[in-house]
Formats: sequence, structure tokens, C-alpha cells
Amino acid sequence: MLFHSTRGKDKDKTFEQVLMQGLAKDGGLYMPNNWPKVDIHKLKDFDNFIDVAKEIVPLFTDSSFHKAEVETLLDDTWHDFDKKDLIDIFEVDDSISILELFHGPTSAFKDFGLQLAAAFFNKTLQMQNKTAVVFGATSGDTGSAAIDACKEFELIKSFILIPEGNMSEIQRKQMTTVNKENVFPILASGTFDDCQDIVKKGFRERTFLRDDQYLLAVNSINWVRIIGQICYYFYASLKMNKLSEPLNFSVPTGNFGNVFACYAASKMGMPLSKIVVAVNSNDILDRFFRNNDYSKLKVNETISPSMDISVASNFERLLYDFYLDCNSDLCSRLYSKFPEESIQINKSIWNKTSDLFISYSSDDASTYKCMQFYHKNFNYIMDPHTAVAADAVKRFKEKLQGNTIILSTAHPAKFPLALENAGILIKNLPKKLTEVLNKSEVAKKLSTTDNSIFEYIKENN
Ligand SMILES: *Cc1c(COP(=O)(O)O)cnc(C)c1O
Repeated sequence: MLFHSTRGKDKDKTFEQVLMQGLAKDGGLYMPNNWPKVDIHKLKDFDNFIDVAKEIVPLFTDSSFHKAEVETLLDDTWHDFDKKDLIDIFEVDDSISILELFHGPTSAFKDFGLQLAAAFFNKTLQMQNKTAVVFGATSGDTGSAAIDACKEFELIKSFILIPEGNMSEIQRKQMTTVNKENVFPILASGTFDDCQDIVKKGFRERTFLRDDQYLLAVNSINWVRIIGQICYYFYASLKMNKLSEPLNFSVPTGNFGNVFACYAASKMGMPLSKIVVAVNSNDILDRFFRNNDYSKLKVNETISPSMDISVASNFERLLYDFYLDCNSDLCSRLYSKFPEESIQINKSIWNKTSDLFISYSSDDASTYKCMQFYHKNFNYIMDPHTAVAADAVKRFKEKLQGNTIILSTAHPAKFPLALENAGILIKNLPKKLTEVLNKSEVAKKLSTTDNSIFEYIKENN
């Protein structure tokens, strides 16, 4: 399987190139040259996550790694999960279930994608006898999952920018209390967007790298993260009904990575009815799916901070594959004017949206209400991100035929303030989260307005 960019210039790249490069040089996102098909009948006999992953991951990695090699890697990839089988499913009623993806070490679903990324980074670096710098900015869970996934790999040093602002104390402390020689959390002055700008500049200039060193991106545009997420869609469908009936999935989304993984799974043969695209008041995706209007607005701070975005990077993949029939000229034309001009597509093409997608934007008040509703009626405590997806399902119950899975992307204990505001008392805190709160923080404070961040990386690299 080789890969190409949504904007058409980068073609026939190997998995390893795509993995180590992240974003394509032409500014587009990498896509597989075709959708590999999963052998559903074979999968039906499986009963654990790793076996399912062993059928899926090699379909994308065969240009760089032998199947046996990948299978060995997958035996050790996902670690420090509280559940033996990584995920759990909570049955709400006859038609609704919650897929708990937060049992990993950082208590958010991002562990699935980033542990797979780190395992492949490390394998590649070992084979090439090289080292790497991970450099990224985080508005919530990406940074902690990246740090945790990479911290045991000595060939990788992680520098993560933590902006001032709307992150929970636990989210921040998961990054600042790790205390490892190859982990460098940076408390950066400025907003998430300021931090992103610095990261982009770093990737352009690369002044802090030593010779022969990789600079790695961990944001959700890296295809390897999508692969890790495709695995749990297949696995959830297997657990629910042996992949025999199409399901609806309600996905709380920001950068659209998790929704795109669901779409990808369906292209690979997973039965799928509808995808519910659930967003908070940062509603660019909702405006597109309801009104064919993809236009950038300012970011609102919400109680679901990991979905506070102004644009959804992985949306480009859907636009390219689902709407534009893989026409890279059209895709680059639309993106060359964006965000100055909003993206709108031909009405006749846009009309197929409702075949697959339903979207909903839940504001904070409505999200709180949904958390309270689940607590009161089902004695179930959910985090505010999950509640955005649950709220959408509440709203569209009539429209959704068959069974619906709500994706739960974070453990509720990660967001104590939101729970408190909702009047919900959580008793069973995971030990790993209470421990984090009691550790002392070590982080470098630096400014985003000068070169101090680059100098700091150079000194420590
Ligand atoms: C990152 C994140 C999301 C959004 O995921 P995308 O793939 O960017 O759509 C949702 N919930 C939580 C808890 C997250 O950390």
C-alpha cells in the first residue's frame, strides 16, 4: 500500500515516509492509494483487540514492514490500560451503548493512536540508527498521550508546548509531572494558536535539529493515528453484533480524526449506518454538514476543551474522498483560498451528505444537561466531550435506526470542574489521576514571541 497527498503533488509514498513526515510537502494530507478490504468473515471468530489490530494495521504498513514484524510490534504496542481488552462497553438501553475508549494511561482515547505512532517511530529509528525530536502544541489530551507514548523510547525527545488557558489541571499535570530525561514540557505564553504558529515555524526552519535527525509531528493528521483508531471501530462492531448489522456511531469531534477513522473503517468493510458528527459550540463542521458552509470563525472556550478548534484538519480527507471523488486539483483549489474564502461545494455533490452524516452542535448548557440526564437516569457519569456526543443522540433518537454507539473519549475524572458545575460527585477516581494531582510539576516557562523555545530545544537536544 502506497500513499498520496490530497493536494496531488506527493505521490506513491511508503508507509514509513508518511509516518515520519506527517503532513505532505504540498500542504495536503496523506491518503492510502486505495481502501484495503478487511476479511470480515475471518474477523468474526476473533475475540480480542490485538488480534483484530493484527488484521488491520498490516494492510497499511506492507510497503515498509513485513506482516510478521508488525504482528510482533502489536503485541507490545498498547500498554498500561486498565482493562485487559483495552475498551469497555456500557449498555445504556436496548438501542444505545457507550464505547469507553479512556482506559489507557492518559485516560483519553488518544492513547490508541499515539501508542501506535510511538511504536512505529521507535522501530523506524532503531532500524535507521537515528534519533528524533517530537515537537507539538496541545490544547488538551494530545500532549499527554504523546509524552506518555514516547517516554520509554530513548531515541525520541518530546518537546510539548502547553498554552495558557482552558486546559484542566489534570490535563496539564499529566504532562508536567512525568519527570523523564527525554520529556520537556514547556509552559508557553500565549494561546493555542500562538503555540501552533511556533510549531509550524519550527517545522519550516528546523534550526534546532542535529544532523540526520527526524522532526516528528504528533498531531492528528498523521495517518498512523487514524490506523490505530480504525482498529477500535472494527473491534466495537465485532463486540456488538459480530459485524453483522450496521451501527450508528456518535463521535464527539474537533479535528475530525476520530470521525474520519469511522468513515475509513466503513470503506474497509465495516457495516455502518450513520455517523453522528457531534461538536461543541465551535461548530464549523456542523455548519458544513447542515448548510454547506465550511468557514473559519474564532475559537470559543467551552467545557469540552479538546474539541475547541476553528478548523478541523482531517476534514480535508473526507472532502477529498467522499465529496470530490479523489480530485486533488479541486481539493487544492478549495484549500488554496481557505480560510479567507469559505469552502462550499457544488450543491448536487453536497446533497449526499445525509446518506451518511448527521451533525449536531451542543452548547455548554446543553452538554451539562446531558451529563445530568445520564447521571440521574442511568447512574452513569460521563465527561463533557462524551456528553456532546450523547446529547446529539438524544436529539436524533428518532432519526437513528438500529443500534447506536456513543464514543466516550475521556474519563470523567479528567474534568472535575465540569462535573462539579453539573452537580455530579464522582467517587471512584482512577489511581493514576489522583497520583498525578499530588506530584510536583516541572516545566520550563518560555515565550512564544521570540526564539527562546527553539534555543531551549537546541540546548537540550
Ligand atoms: C482530541 C479529543 C477529541 C476530538 O478528537 P478529534 O479526532 O480531533 O475529532 C474529543 N474528545 C477528547 C477527550 C479528545 O481528547
